Amino acid sequence: PKYVYDFTEGNKDLKDLLGGKGANLAEMTNLGLPVPPGFTITSEACRYYLDHEAMPEGLDAEVGRHLEALEREMGKRLGQPDDPLLVSVRSGAKFSMPGMMETVLNVGLNDDSVHGLAERSGNERFAWDSYRRLIQMFGKTVLDIDGDLFETAIDEAKAAKGVESDLDLDTDDFKGLVATYKTIVREHAGREFPTDPREQMDLAIKAVFGSWNAPRAILYRRQERIPADLGTAVNIVAMVFGNLGMDSGTGVAFTRDPASGQQGIYGDYLQNAQGEDVVAGIRSTVPLAELEQIDKKSYAELLQIMETLENHYRDLCDIEFTIEGGKLWMLQTRVGKRTAAAAFRIATQLVDQELIDEDEAVRRVTGDQLAQLMFPRFGEIADDVKKITEGMGASPGAAVGKAVFTSGRAVELADDGEDVILLRRETSPDDLNGMIAARGILTSRGGKTSHAAVVARGMGKTCVCGAEELEIDVKSRQATAPGGVTIKEGDVISIDGTTGAVYLGEVAVVDSPVVQYFEGTLAASDGDELVASVDRLMRHADSRRRLAVRANADNGEDAARARRFGAQGIGLCRTEHMFLGERRQYVEDLILAETKEDRSAALRALEPLQKQDFKEIFAAMDGLPVTIRLIDPPLHEFLPDLTDLTVRVATGDASSDDERLLEAVRRLHEQNPMLGLRGVRLGVVIPGLFGMQVRAIAEAAAELKEAGKEPHAEIMIPLVGAVQELEYIREEAEKVLADVGVEALIGTMIELPRAAMTAGQIAEAAEFFSFGTNDLTQTTWGFSRDDVESAFFGRYLELGIFGVSPFETLDVDGVGRLVRIAAEEGRATRPGLKLGICGEHGGDPDSVHFFHEVGLDYVSCSPFRIPVARLEAGRAAI
Ligand code: ADP
Ligand code: MG
Ligand code: MG
Repeated sequence: PKYVYDFTEGNKDLKDLLGGKGANLAEMTNLGLPVPPGFTITSEACRYYLDHEAMPEGLDAEVGRHLEALEREMGKRLGQPDDPLLVSVRSGAKFSMPGMMETVLNVGLNDDSVHGLAERSGNERFAWDSYRRLIQMFGKTVLDIDGDLFETAIDEAKAAKGVESDLDLDTDDFKGLVATYKTIVREHAGREFPTDPREQMDLAIKAVFGSWNAPRAILYRRQERIPADLGTAVNIVAMVFGNLGMDSGTGVAFTRDPASGQQGIYGDYLQNAQGEDVVAGIRSTVPLAELEQIDKKSYAELLQIMETLENHYRDLCDIEFTIEGGKLWMLQTRVGKRTAAAAFRIATQLVDQELIDEDEAVRRVTGDQLAQLMFPRFGEIADDVKKITEGMGASPGAAVGKAVFTSGRAVELADDGEDVILLRRETSPDDLNGMIAARGILTSRGGKTSHAAVVARGMGKTCVCGAEELEIDVKSRQATAPGGVTIKEGDVISIDGTTGAVYLGEVAVVDSPVVQYFEGTLAASDGDELVASVDRLMRHADSRRRLAVRANADNGEDAARARRFGAQGIGLCRTEHMFLGERRQYVEDLILAETKEDRSAALRALEPLQKQDFKEIFAAMDGLPVTIRLIDPPLHEFLPDLTDLTVRVATGDASSDDERLLEAVRRLHEQNPMLGLRGVRLGVVIPGLFGMQVRAIAEAAAELKEAGKEPHAEIMIPLVGAVQELEYIREEAEKVLADVGVEALIGTMIELPRAAMTAGQIAEAAEFFSFGTNDLTQTTWGFSRDDVESAFFGRYLELGIFGVSPFETLDVDGVGRLVRIAAEEGRATRPGLKLGICGEHGGDPDSVHFFHEVGLDYVSCSPFRIPVARLEAGRAAI
């Protein structure tokens, strides 16, 4: 295969092969934008290298040919002593992983070429600064030396001189640092810093390949659900220099505000600096708009290019650029990450600008983003809560938690179930663990393009950055705000990722405008731009989707809310909660009944209560289908705890009832309740139980009909494994329905592998199937849902045995295959068979796409996930 592509050979659609950075550098090159020349080594070569621990055959020569071509174009050789070509060796995977992998700049410098660079540039200081940067980055990235050693050396050099900024170091200081750095390399890597330019480049390429498997990259991929086996491409790019003087510099920019979607000038610029300085927050940047004063010509050109890119990509782009002696160079672009709110706003703005159509707009927003917009916000601020300072709202949301100052502490407290806010001066990729564990992130330095901001937005986590008045002191674990207010570790603070406000104390949270919109208390026409965007895209998704969306709801109130959120019925009404609370007594009576009469009496007492529950639900869902699942859990769940009872009986504290109960509890005790006497088995074993429930449903429906309403009951039998079980229950149920004179569909859950495999038979007796994917996952894998999370899922996820828990996103290959078989064979028996799903997966975006694809009629999920399911069902159909 061809492993190396010149920038002129690639394009933006080759991300699989060239990675995002390489594909877009090629695209910009072909658009005629000023990109320094270079080439990309494919991710295929990386995968080969990682699999075989050796470079693929012929790669060396292929790289050599592309390097020669680059040298010819630039008119100088890599590391040529009197006039060196320098290159950067940059990682770039298919999905952007900000700061997770490695880049080495200034490759090609050594003791000879540093003089050539000094002479050619007429800037000796610059040449030696570039050289020490190379040794530093190379040492850290390629030779695995602790970066702090280099940092400490430069801090000591500054301290010795009594200065604070890198800008105050001169040529001799850098020469001294180069010597020190080389010693560090010798001592810690056990080898000399390599002087051969090609060797530098080759080692850097391998290091970038290897950085794909760096722990923080692995962690980030897991968090973002990026597949582990893609590998990264490597880009070799001719260096341009932002550190040549004050007419040089480097910056980052967005074509729109990634937090709000507003068009404008957003970005940061740093004079006399090289790439990494901006993100690392070494010196304070200036807002991009100030570039107009610094270098009008480059500024105008940059704005022009941003417009070209937006129109070309038809989306928000982010950009890295460098100015070398007044000449602008583009070093990177990509379709930029954005907040959830910005995603909705931008999608509709682009429709209005006629850059995309509504289908495309719906494709560009996700259910996860919508779910974020439904997070609560801060409400009124109580008197005893003080706003202590303010930073930039970098990633919206409202976060409340205990202040912590290190990522380690964040993880510890979060593991104990505490909500924490991570306070850092700035974050680095090493903080990833802590950022994941925290509810929110607060930094005192860095802008909207800082590491903290970018990563937090990617995770959908609340972040306030650049709260510069805050003095954060990690050692003493506290921060001071103006007016002498201190935040100590463990103090509760509240941060607002929209306004940037920071409060000492706990601020109450309220419904977001988007939730108010779904609730119907805020209209799309009320002037909230975000709500108007959501409304527009939801309508379009609804007009496109084939899947209906129902709710899992067990009471009138939830049913009513679900309906406001757009539910088209109830897919799962669990009846077991109807046996809790005061009604527990009747269940006890039922279990303890010794005669048929006692049992009937207990059931007769329960029936009117059940009927009332059903009437409320039917009323809330008037005109829409309501699927009611007959009682599912084992009955001993309704009895007192075995240990409690035993103690009571043993201490002689027990009534005679208690003694009978204890006996019953012992009798009903099961080693494996999940596989025990539950679901349809209860209906078969306990005469009259299901009949009572069916009667309650039928009479509730009859009474509502009488009152002019339109109830549509669907009676669902859980845990059926054989058609005979269903037939047995069906007979009883049909008798009751006929007796009351009401019609209802009778169907079953498909939640056992045997049910799926014999779906053709089961459909003989079922008018609908509803896939109970929680139990189906549990029974297919043989996992106990209640135990696995703590027992071993963590390790499985770590090792990549799962990309994601199969309880979260449907396992398409295994459980999905059963769903597919059951759907096909069920419909072969009964063409009109209604098919739905009512597990947690009904509200999971990826799973919704699968259910659309296998041809189900509806998904059912919790009320709050309904808008998410509607949107994803629309996206699946486009
Ligand atoms: P990341 O993916 O972490 O952003 P990059 O490969 O983009 O890493 O490089 C890190 C920094 O170095 C960026 O600011 C980038 O603009 C800068 N840089 C990369 N290549 C060059 C080059 N050839 N000339 C000048 N600066 C460069
Ligand atoms: Mg970059
Ligand atoms: Mg179940």
